[in-house]
Amino acid sequence: MAGAALAAAPHLFASTLPPRPAFPVADYHVHLSPQLTIEQAVALGKERQIQIGILEHPTPGYPINTDADLQKYIDNLRKYPVRVGLQPVYAGWSKSFSKSVLDQLDYVLMDALTLPRPDGTGWAIWQIDTMVDDEEEFMTRYMQFIEQVLTSEPIDVFGWPTFLPVPIARLYKQLWTRARVDRIISLAQARKIAIEINEVAHVPDENFITLAKRAALKFTFGTDSRTPQNAAHFYYCYQMAQKCGLAEADMFVPKKK
Ligand SMILES: [Zn+2]
Repeated sequence: MAGAALAAAPHLFASTLPPRPAFPVADYHVHLSPQLTIEQAVALGKERQIQIGILEHPTPGYPINTDADLQKYIDNLRKYPVRVGLQPVYAGWSKSFSKSVLDQLDYVLMDALTLPRPDGTGWAIWQIDTMVDDEEEFMTRYMQFIEQVLTSEPIDVFGWPTFLPVPIARLYKQLWTRARVDRIISLAQARKIAIEINEVAHVPDENFITLAKRAALKFTFGTDSRTPQNAAHFYYCYQMAQKCGLAEADMFVPKKK
């Protein structure tokens, strides 16, 4: 069984694992869950020698919706050696909170994976059953939302950059034209927004990272994990760090608290 699994995934052989970068590594995309408590996350970070950054969604249906909720979330996590972040999902989210409370966060990470629909609901394009009828029409709409996220939201890190829904993922090189890539990079550059290298989705690709690095953008590594198996566990991020020659100076540093 293990033999078959290894044969199917030759990259898992220890000899071909990408080396851990020489700089201090952080996983700035860890969600707490019933499977992953704050104590477990802290222990994991210590064991794997990786700085943990916790994210929570300020969204109806999740625990953070008011200043008091956010303050409680921050105060609770400040008892632990973790970075404290927030991962908003919908446009205009920051209006629910005071600047004085938001300023206490180490960072805000937002992705562009919940496309707004005219009726106010969101289209979750990361879901496996996402349908795309016309890929160019999709890209136009996606770029509009990416533009909105990168220009109008108070964020520090752009999460899941260049992710494509499953049915069009194989068209990555074709759909992420140089013009689209350059547009994202210049928008991030204008507001000093860092780029997440996402361990689950394997995005962005080497080409995007190379161009972003050339534009002096900073990077984070993120697992978007909710379990001890996945949190602070990197393969793709290390591979990209090696291929693109990322150094400590290329990595995002949260505001000092
Ligand atoms: Zn997340």
